[in-house]
Amino acid sequence: MNAPSSRDTRPPTHTPMTQFPTWNDELVIGGMTLGRLAARVGRTPFYAYDRSLLDARVAQLRAALPRGIKLHYAMKANPMPAVVAHMARRVEGIDVASAGELKIALDVGADPDEISFAGPGKTDAELRQAVAAGIMVNIESFREVAVLAAAAHELGVPARVSVRVNPDFELKSSGMKMGGGPKQFGVDAEQVPLLLAEIAKVSNPETGLAFEGFHLFAGSQNLKAEAIVEAQRKCFDLALKLAEHAPAPVKFLNLGGGFGIPYFPGEQPLDLAPIGENLATIQAEAASKLPKAEIVLELGRYLVGEAGLYVCRILDRKVSRGHTYLVADGGLHHHLSNSGNFGQVIRKNYPVAIGNRMTPPEGVEPASVVGPLCTPLDIVADKMPLGHAQVGDLVVVFQSGAYGASASPQGFLGHPEVVEVLV
Ligand SMILES: *Cc1c(COP(=O)(O)O)cnc(C)c1O
Repeated sequence: MNAPSSRDTRPPTHTPMTQFPTWNDELVIGGMTLGRLAARVGRTPFYAYDRSLLDARVAQLRAALPRGIKLHYAMKANPMPAVVAHMARRVEGIDVASAGELKIALDVGADPDEISFAGPGKTDAELRQAVAAGIMVNIESFREVAVLAAAAHELGVPARVSVRVNPDFELKSSGMKMGGGPKQFGVDAEQVPLLLAEIAKVSNPETGLAFEGFHLFAGSQNLKAEAIVEAQRKCFDLALKLAEHAPAPVKFLNLGGGFGIPYFPGEQPLDLAPIGENLATIQAEAASKLPKAEIVLELGRYLVGEAGLYVCRILDRKVSRGHTYLVADGGLHHHLSNSGNFGQVIRKNYPVAIGNRMTPPEGVEPASVVGPLCTPLDIVADKMPLGHAQVGDLVVVFQSGAYGASASPQGFLGHPEVVEVLV
């Protein structure tokens, strides 16, 4: 029961985590029980990402979205090279946010034609690398125009560019706003005509800038389909207006993403159906108004988040003034967002379970799982109903495939780095 009625006074619960099956009380990942997988990995803590769930998510999107909508993977959500390699063969493109990510994307064989590069602080060296690689750069400042033009001229190749627009509206109910109002991302919509004029001055399909389109990204972690629908419509209308000033036909129209996944009690999975319907309308309109444009969605979290688990082992079990603490070998230093210290205002629990006691015959007990760090911020699960856990048991944190290992301060307190496996 997740949507409480007005008479229901029970606290909201987590949306059920049904993506991983269980076998004899134990979670199963990639066809292997958790205990066996832990033995295979050789140590805890670790992250495990399930290939079949990555594939299922792509299939689910393909089924819900109109044909012809291109999917890009924003690899900052999970830059593990094996994951990027897996995704690169299943979606149409990879979005990178640094030269380091670009290297991984190219190393794993992503097609440079389908790589795009966004980020508010691209160095001259990174821009030059991007031009040499033949990937597309999302221009986010007037400075980048001149740097890209110089690199294209020097290298004798075109610099493929699109313009990242900071829209004049926000993505409503977004976990993290990345557009609207003053922002470090992109160029304000009202300045874009001037930027396009600057691009036109240095355009040259052989050794200058080659304009390809627009990139509009308004926010992240949104669970409200109607907010995403509204933002995509507004982004499209804005792109139509800006296209009047473009030095070349729009070939690439990135309407962002922002698709969220349910993390906290009371949150419901995103309904893709209205988003698919809206995109079909937009696509039909684009066919006449921007006939060369292909529509791209760039998704990070939504593609990989639900396919991943963080797994740590219980080192100690103790009771402090009546409250049970399960002390684990992993925590904040590997999984900052689960600890509540990556953008949350009020800490809430991710879905957490004792992975080898999924249906405990003795029922559940309220307990807190904490990590080994010497700080009260190191919380894995705060006062949650969990199977009666013993030392050696395995704690799993669901919804951990995105913004996990690479988004955590692994050096803090000098514990070993986390292992990552794709199974
Ligand atoms: C971070 C980022 C994404 C991915 O966001 P998710 O919420 O993980 O889907 C997409 N595009 C850009 C430009 C980003 O910076």
